[in-house]
Amino acid sequence: MQQLLDGYKHFRSEVFPKRANLFEGLAEHQKPSTLFITCADSRVVPDMILQSNPGDLFICRNAGNIVPPYGETHGGVSATIEYAVMAVGVTNIILCGHSNCGAMKAVLSGKKHDTMPTVDSWLHHSHSALQLLDSEAPQHQRWTEKERLRALTRANVVSQLHNLRTHPSVAAGLTKGTLNIYGWVYEIHSGEIQSFNHVQGRFLSLDDHAPIPVTQPRLQLMAS
Ligand SMILES: [Zn+2]
Repeated sequence: MQQLLDGYKHFRSEVFPKRANLFEGLAEHQKPSTLFITCADSRVVPDMILQSNPGDLFICRNAGNIVPPYGETHGGVSATIEYAVMAVGVTNIILCGHSNCGAMKAVLSGKKHDTMPTVDSWLHHSHSALQLLDSEAPQHQRWTEKERLRALTRANVVSQLHNLRTHPSVAAGLTKGTLNIYGWVYEIHSGEIQSFNHVQGRFLSLDDHAPIPVTQPRLQLMAS
């Protein structure tokens, strides 16, 4: 806790004064271009990874970067998406998974958690990713755990993109051409982001490939 309080003190005395104009400009309104949906994991820090500023990203975080299908759960994720698109007017939605994700490990293990019924209930929204893995890469049982986790993480991003498109605000934005959606995976150990390319059916490094908006989430899975 002390580390956090020291950080706040530093922010108040050193960081905020230097950027007072930015915060003054943001005090009454925001106009972020992008809704960034990612995992709650402490190692994923969107504003650090993308070097974005306050006001740039509208962020929604939860265990497993999950988007429940529209109508199934009228919860915080659905409300945040609707608000971001309809009221804030974002023009991009980036759904970003990450390496070594605890939520994906739990889904892959298939174990029930007696003491965490809410987690189990939440993670059932990722079972479609597991089904995708089983149907598209039935040989995955012979892969290493690391390879399976890597594939499931990517399948989950693609599955959640499908769910995202069931939300009326998103579907309308895609139809009108006012909204683009992207699926990313962030590699904690290297800092690299890979973006889903639906034409090739795989994830490509942002280091040498520009991201393309996803119009047809279809993934080809392989151990890599
Ligand atoms: Zn995670």
